[in-house]
Amino acid sequence: MIISIASGKGGTGKTTVATNLALSLGKGVQLLDCDVEEPNAHLFIKPVFEKTEVVAASVPEVDEEKCNLCGKCGEICQFKAIVVIGDTVLPFPELCHSCGGCMEVCPVKAIREGERVLGIAEMGRSGDLEFAHGRLRVGEAMSPPLIRKVRSLTKSDGVTIIDAPPGTSCPVIASIKEADFVLLVTEPTPFGLHDLKLAVGAVRILGIPSGLVINRSDIGNDRVREYAAEVNLPILMEINFDRRIAEAYSRGQMLVEVMPEWREKFVRLYDRIAELVEAGKH
Ligand code: SF4
Ligand code: SF4
Repeated sequence: MIISIASGKGGTGKTTVATNLALSLGKGVQLLDCDVEEPNAHLFIKPVFEKTEVVAASVPEVDEEKCNLCGKCGEICQFKAIVVIGDTVLPFPELCHSCGGCMEVCPVKAIREGERVLGIAEMGRSGDLEFAHGRLRVGEAMSPPLIRKVRSLTKSDGVTIIDAPPGTSCPVIASIKEADFVLLVTEPTPFGLHDLKLAVGAVRILGIPSGLVINRSDIGNDRVREYAAEVNLPILMEINFDRRIAEAYSRGQMLVEVMPEWREKFVRLYDRIAELVEAGKH
């Protein structure tokens, strides 16, 4: 079972839901933090890291001795990541999407595969919980390959919880596609509603069943609930604003440790997700 936790915007409590859900379920659970630009689940889970891998993307390196300046590499590149300027070929590794097209078309095999480091993946555990996350190199913009690396660590059995990046762009899609369920986390405010609509659109295009957690559910207005009813998005949990939750978060403490009664609520949240996934198969 793969459950991705996503939200249209940052700061909605997505990581709180992901970490507390993972911890509440106990043995056989894995938490993958795919918010590689700003990973923060480890601040709460406090894993002991056992392994680190450098993740790199393939980029072209040109052998100027062999190059005849034909320009074919620049013609095929959709990203303007390699261009012939005057009597030289200039690769722009930061723009390269590693499609390999330029290497393929070069008539004199003047392009070989080089590497651009994107970041690192770190794997470890915290008690029974298996944990992994990615850390994108500062200044690097291309996060999907690093997210795919972290997702490739998904176990074939048990439950995998994925903390997806905020938003609805490529990194989010890389974090939610092929999940069994997407749990969206929002707040009942106009901004929350706006971003929720975008997130629901993306999830529905991918055809993944989804449900909603409303955080700080006693602030704002009822528009999020009305919208959820209109589009048939089940509300699976509501978390009231509680000073103790905010204080625990700011101290890097887990909600289920500070207020153990929440453990049962997260287990029930999982049970409802499992029921919806099962129902979707029939
Ligand atoms: S590998 Fe693809 S994206 Fe990168 S420079 Fe070559 S053609 Fe462009
Ligand atoms: S396709 Fe090959 S030979 Fe032609 S400009 Fe590019 S690197 Fe040079």
